[in-house]
Amino acid sequence: MAVRKVLKYGEKTLREPSKEVHKVSKKITELVQDLFDTMYTKNGVGLAAPQIGVNYRVFVIDASTEKEPLSPMVFINPKIIKKSGAIIAQEGCLSFPEAFTDVKRYKNVTVKAVDIHGKPFVMEAKDGSLLARAIQHEFDHLEGILFIDHCVNRFDADTVLKKFNLPPVDADKIIDDPILEAEFKND
Ligand code: ZN
Repeated sequence: MAVRKVLKYGEKTLREPSKEVHKVSKKITELVQDLFDTMYTKNGVGLAAPQIGVNYRVFVIDASTEKEPLSPMVFINPKIIKKSGAIIAQEGCLSFPEAFTDVKRYKNVTVKAVDIHGKPFVMEAKDGSLLARAIQHEFDHLEGILFIDHCVNRFDADTVLKKFNLPPVDADKIIDDPILEAEFKND
C-alpha cells in the first residue's frame, strides 16, 4: 500500500500502450491497491496503471457522487464492446493537474473486463454519466491516448495547458472518430 507519484503530461510512459495481464498475481493486487491509494489521495475519479509508470492494462474508478454512491471498481484487461450516443463535457486528468477542457465522448459504453479476483464481468454505463466517461478516459490511458486527444477545440485546450505549464496539444494525436461524429449528428 503506497501513494505513488503520478506521471505528468509530457512523460513518455503516458504515450506507450500497456501490456495484458496474464494472471491476477500478488503484484497486480498490490498495483491495484496503490492505484486506489494514489487516486483517493489526489481526489481523482479514476487512475490507470501507466499514470504511475506501470504499463499494464489495469485501471480503477470511483465514480461516486452525492446523488449516486457507487462501489470502487477495478478493471483488468478491459475491452469496450459497445458504444453509442455522443456528448461533450469537461474533463480533467491527474496527469494534467488543474487543467480541464471540453472533450467528445460516447454517452453509453459496455465494457468487458476481469475483476480483482480474476473473474470476468460485463458492465454497462449510460447517459453520459461520470462512470461512462471515466471508463472511456481510463481505457484510453492503456492505449497511450490522452483526454486532450478528444478535445473539442485544440486552441482552447492549448490555452488551458499553457496556463498550467503543460506542453501543448499533440496535434498528430488528435482523434477523428467518424462513428462518434455520426452519433453527434443523430443526437
Ligand atoms: Zn487521465
